[in-house]
Amino acid sequence: MKALVYHGPGQKTWEEKPKPGIQQPSDAIVRITKTTICGTDLHIMKGDVATVTPGRILGHEGVGIIEETGSAVTTFKKGDHVLISCITSCGKCDYCKKGMYSHCEKGGWILGNLIDGTQAEFVRIPYADNSLYPIPGGSDEEALVMLSDILPTGFECGVLNGKVEPGSTIAIVGAGPVGLAALLTAQFYSPARIFLIDLDDNRLKVAATFGATDTFNSSKENVAERIMTLTGGRGVDTAIEAVGVPATFQLCESIIGPGGVIANIGVHGKSVELHLEELWSKNITITTRLVDTVTTPMLFKTVQSQKLDAKKLITHRFKLPQILEAYDTFANAGKEKALKVILEN
Ligand SMILES: [Zn+2]
Ligand SMILES: [Zn+2]
Repeated sequence: MKALVYHGPGQKTWEEKPKPGIQQPSDAIVRITKTTICGTDLHIMKGDVATVTPGRILGHEGVGIIEETGSAVTTFKKGDHVLISCITSCGKCDYCKKGMYSHCEKGGWILGNLIDGTQAEFVRIPYADNSLYPIPGGSDEEALVMLSDILPTGFECGVLNGKVEPGSTIAIVGAGPVGLAALLTAQFYSPARIFLIDLDDNRLKVAATFGATDTFNSSKENVAERIMTLTGGRGVDTAIEAVGVPATFQLCESIIGPGGVIANIGVHGKSVELHLEELWSKNITITTRLVDTVTTPMLFKTVQSQKLDAKKLITHRFKLPQILEAYDTFANAGKEKALKVILEN
């Protein structure tokens, strides 16, 4: 089969690899029908993710058709249409029993990281019963690809951890796919005001059409000052960090209001200054989380019923063998006006 293989920082090829086979009775082999590229894959390509070693097939999102199941798989059979979760869960360890699948002792985020991933014609999924979701007939596959990672990530790490409430004022720093996923799912709770902050005017324009009430380009104005003025000096109830650099986290620190929550989503590679001299008396909470994908079944229903229009996050479509071109497009998101790209096998 063909697959996108990481060969060290800056090096990747679309090449021939052996088709995966069943290794454990709980495995399933899935023929990929649609997959995508994540911001995390770009971090990997920069060499930021040390656990990914040369020779690894990347990708942790996608939908497909079951090709083969191990003898212990009871929920799925050959021919079933499935959604692949970016998080693999055994369903039996202490963390899984707590619903913290991201820290599953035998799984967690392993796809396209510790084991071969979904940017390939076929993928092996361990603990298939817990790590795949059935797709009912007549579903829109493209929209469902957004459920593998970005929608649960924006919702769990941003909206749920950020305790977004009706009437609250929230700020989302970063209007990339995950920030926009937080923007879409925050609206389940009817916050009164949603501020979106980014460096890219096109993404801010998109955010405004997705429900942001105010947008700010932090390269053009002092956003912290503007937000403090707009909130009468109080600051926001929830600040969602969806970038992963020190400046964006510090912006959250400077706009969070008393009693508020800073909900971090970003993948941070550097230490960040924590201004406790400002924050110690403000009754604030700071949360961190790796997505658990525990809300995937709920989000699945909102996408199926079209309460959540996940498809509008997709801007580009390619055939799977054009994946190198798709990476270039996604890596130049500003110039290409790219959000999510769909790769069809
Ligand atoms: Zn991802
Ligand atoms: Zn587990």
